Amino acid sequence: MNITFLGTGTSSGIPIIGCDCPVCMSANPKNKRLRSSILVEADGVYLVVDTAPDFREQALRYRIPRVDAVLFTHAHADHVFGFDDIRRFNTIQGARIPAYGAPETINDLRRIFSYIGMNPKTKGLYRPDIEYHAVDNRFKIGDIFVEPLPVEHGGIATFGYVFEHLEKTVGYFPDCHEMSPAVIEKLRGIDIMILDALRYREHRTHLTVEASIAILKQIGAHSSYMTHMCHDVDHDELEDSLPTGMHVSYDGLVLTL
Ligand SMILES: [Zn+2]
Ligand SMILES: [Zn+2]
Ligand SMILES: [Zn+2]
Repeated sequence: MNITFLGTGTSSGIPIIGCDCPVCMSANPKNKRLRSSILVEADGVYLVVDTAPDFREQALRYRIPRVDAVLFTHAHADHVFGFDDIRRFNTIQGARIPAYGAPETINDLRRIFSYIGMNPKTKGLYRPDIEYHAVDNRFKIGDIFVEPLPVEHGGIATFGYVFEHLEKTVGYFPDCHEMSPAVIEKLRGIDIMILDALRYREHRTHLTVEASIAILKQIGAHSSYMTHMCHDVDHDELEDSLPTGMHVSYDGLVLTL
């Protein structure tokens, strides 16, 4: 199973429009962050988690050849606004593409993209052709088992996902403010854990770096990666300060397990 970080930034992306802070002005490519999303691939099956506003750019940059399913963590703009560009994969594959999410997330997608699902075969209209699946339990795509797990993220229904293939497991939780003891227990001992770490200061809907480290220690993954960082986080500075086995993700990073 291969995990590609398509984007590792918070909702504004980094650099932020009109900001001249050291991270936004940094020449380090690891400080350039598109909106958070990952690509999961195993045996030629490709899953994309969230369709960020940068999805088109990400699909081109990382040469995504096909999309067998889209999984949504939640319906905030930075995780859904690239959804329309999925239509290109309908054309390439000549097939409807399934999209998964919590029931509330699917309802929000139907509202935000009210034209999706309206007679996609109409000649000359290139709308995404989507089959929605409201989920709250483990399901399977190709040979990849997927388990959605709920987290608290400012009141909006939000999932993280655990992917399992050939007994290897990875968890992706980009937007999280609090994680219940039951979810932490489920994640304990996972191979790779990817978790929200927005910034050093408190935030109403995201984990701080300190809180993220505390949860990652409880989970005790073989290796851990932080994501969804804002411009307060300089990649190298945070990377150097983290405990052994914990890392800061960056756009284009590929993990193989
Ligand atoms: Zn987000
Ligand atoms: Zn900045
Ligand atoms: Zn969010």
